[in-house]
Amino acid sequence: MVRGERNMQFLKGNNLPRVKSSNQSAILRMIYYYGPIQRAEIAERLELTLPTITTNINKMLEEGLVRQVNAAHISGAANGRRAALLEINAGSEFFVGVELVGEQWSVCVADFCGQILSSRCGEVRDKSYEAVMRQFADSYAECLAESRKRPEDICGVGIGLPGLIDRENGTLWKNSTFQWSNKKVRQDFAALTGYRGRITVENNATARGISAQIFHWKELARGRSFAYMLVASGIACPVFLNNSGYRGSVVGTGEAGHMVIDPHGRSCNCGNRGCLEAYASERSIINECINEMHQERAVTLSRLCVDSERPTMEEILRAQQEGDRDVGRVIEEAIYILAIAMSNIINFTRPDTMLVDCKLFTSMNNRNLLLNKSKSALCNPTFYGADIRFAEAGNFANALGGVAVAIDEKLENVE
Ligand SMILES: [Zn+2]
Repeated sequence: MVRGERNMQFLKGNNLPRVKSSNQSAILRMIYYYGPIQRAEIAERLELTLPTITTNINKMLEEGLVRQVNAAHISGAANGRRAALLEINAGSEFFVGVELVGEQWSVCVADFCGQILSSRCGEVRDKSYEAVMRQFADSYAECLAESRKRPEDICGVGIGLPGLIDRENGTLWKNSTFQWSNKKVRQDFAALTGYRGRITVENNATARGISAQIFHWKELARGRSFAYMLVASGIACPVFLNNSGYRGSVVGTGEAGHMVIDPHGRSCNCGNRGCLEAYASERSIINECINEMHQERAVTLSRLCVDSERPTMEEILRAQQEGDRDVGRVIEEAIYILAIAMSNIINFTRPDTMLVDCKLFTSMNNRNLLLNKSKSALCNPTFYGADIRFAEAGNFANALGGVAVAIDEKLENVE
């Protein structure tokens, strides 16, 4: 399924209001991605006439979605003429992001440019769907109160969840880590919070990929595609195409975690054997570390973790840093498998950029290990195709993926 088909239909159609809405959307995205930007540059990039641009922009200025900022000199113009620049008016719209990544939930309120006004996050203790949704709803109310917003001030809510998601219907088909299936997420969130606006549900890796796309478009637009590998309880790696100068689409669900790498291997939550997730996810690393401790090994980790039956990734990484060899070995084996999987994805899709989002790679040693191991598994190691980048630590505890999904919906459906 290629997102963006909807938009192409709009461009092909001769239904005037729809064509108008599509121009509006394209212009708003241009300002979002490239602002501050001149009207003439938008016209040139979109191949639209200047009057069309002006009409649409006047409407956005009236609505307050965009604003004019300090003028720039028009190069080559006589008598110092200056052209006004346009940018997104950050305070014109507010969004709520909700995310579940690994066993960490997060909720936040952010402005149109993704600046966070208030946020809450924590570890999931009760893994039942009802308990997690209740946590989301309570945190939503707290975040709204803290940022002094009413539900009617919120332009949209974006929810990023692990597993197979039907974005169109706002439902979750299956999440094997939490053992959830057929959940009406959109409907349930609306019922629990009373929120009446647009609620969009998306896979969490796709949501974070959209966040990379809309908040870092300028850096990613140079290439024609990028992949977003999220390694938490599971592993997902959706691939994004920059199929025009102003929007991208995501291909497939990127459920890389259930690629079988050993048909006779460890059993996986999904019911199969030998899935990638059973070797290289946070869950598998935590389980292996627990095994080590049961066998009286991993002594540094045993000493520093609060609950030896539930060590956290932070504690495991600290033990590795403090020289726990058993923990080090568990992590190295996981990275080795992850490197092979990542190289397979690069071999298969050859994205221009590979973004890796995983707590393991807050450690520079672990990053280097992944890079070195993956080189040897590439089909053409002399052409080290993808530019591999790592998510920064700040990424792990916020719900900007959810915010991005809600903003993306707004950009797509501007009236
Ligand atoms: Zn599996």
